[in-house]
Amino acid sequence: MTDTPPKTGAEPTRTWRPRTRAVRGGLTRTGFSETSEALFMTSGYVYDSAAEAEQSFDGTLDRMVYSRFKNPTVATFEQRLAEIEGVPPGAAIACRATASGMAAVHAALMCQLKAGDRIVASRALFGSCQWIINELCPKFGIERVFVDGPDLDAWAAALSQPTTCVFIETPANPTLEIIDIAAVAALAHKAGARLVVDNVFATPMLQSPLALGADVVVYSATKHIDGQGRCLGGAVLADPAFCQDVLGPYLRNTGPALSPFNAWLLLKGLETLDLRMERHCANALKVARFLESRPEVARVLYPGLESHPQHVLAARQMRGWGSILAVVLKGGKDAAYRLLDALELIDISNNLGDAKSLVTHPWTTTHQRLSPEDKLGMGIGEGMLRLSVGIEDGDDLVDDLSRALDRAGT
Ligand SMILES: *Cc1c(COP(=O)(O)O)cnc(C)c1O
Repeated sequence: MTDTPPKTGAEPTRTWRPRTRAVRGGLTRTGFSETSEALFMTSGYVYDSAAEAEQSFDGTLDRMVYSRFKNPTVATFEQRLAEIEGVPPGAAIACRATASGMAAVHAALMCQLKAGDRIVASRALFGSCQWIINELCPKFGIERVFVDGPDLDAWAAALSQPTTCVFIETPANPTLEIIDIAAVAALAHKAGARLVVDNVFATPMLQSPLALGADVVVYSATKHIDGQGRCLGGAVLADPAFCQDVLGPYLRNTGPALSPFNAWLLLKGLETLDLRMERHCANALKVARFLESRPEVARVLYPGLESHPQHVLAARQMRGWGSILAVVLKGGKDAAYRLLDALELIDISNNLGDAKSLVTHPWTTTHQRLSPEDKLGMGIGEGMLRLSVGIEDGDDLVDDLSRALDRAGT
């Protein structure tokens, strides 16, 4: 018996382009010849004989044993995501799914770190990623160093001594700062470190960190991959040896397994990811340009604007500008709150990457637990709002912001 039911009509995927892989990658059909991916809601598997059970555990037979280790629907999601993650030509890549993005970040880091090791990370990070590196790592005797992401001299200085792991997020949450992945990868490798990239904001459609020299990519699939606010999920992608020998035992024994039901939702999310990202990007650029034209606005941070400090770098390493932007209001927190409360279409929510446009005040929500100094050090001010631009009609989003700014100003 093998891992998957016999293929009925699955084509070889090697020549398919990423858009086709996003719709069909990893698909194997059961004997019922269903069109859509089968959903295997099962925690365990049965054996025809005692000997078969024994062989499944001693490694003689490669088959499903327990869904904490492997499940057919989760495996289909893993294979599809691996097939669309851009890789250097000829390179093999493996994917392991997790219950959430934070489970992916936690496992990707802790499976390779031990007491006495050193991790260097960019300063502007998603709040919980910052917590893992700043609070959890020192508890286990791991030295951590933070660097201003765009400052390559600071990276060179921080990586002038042996290091185990480098962690970056680009574009960064919520400041939209862009880090030069190829340059940091080269410095990391010289220091003996693996480079782990949180690619949530860009998605596999807009940026391929592994092709730029990164060693590990992590996703919160909760964001654009589901993209419809339905479920949590995460994924780690890296070379097969890392996934099998370093990450694999950590996941198998600590258990942050993705639910098969969520894997099924995420598979359907991947089918429309490219289409959604096109609309997300077009709407976000329209909204960014509109906000930049308003007198109430001190600054708009969006990689697609010529005014973004790393616009040229973003153009070089990304295939689109993404769905997220930050806007800094001249009137500080009061003006930010007035704008939030005056919006009628765009929802106040700390989630992002959703089909629905969502806006949040990072200072008091996603980054609330950080000290004011840490927030300011990351570039987060009290007048900053993070806007996750959805796939509604872009003109309705501009209308909503325009009306709300008019009302908030009086
Ligand atoms: C949301 C997010 C995470 C965490 O993902 P969850 O699915 O919420 O656990 C990590 N990194 C970034 C950049 C995120 O936006």
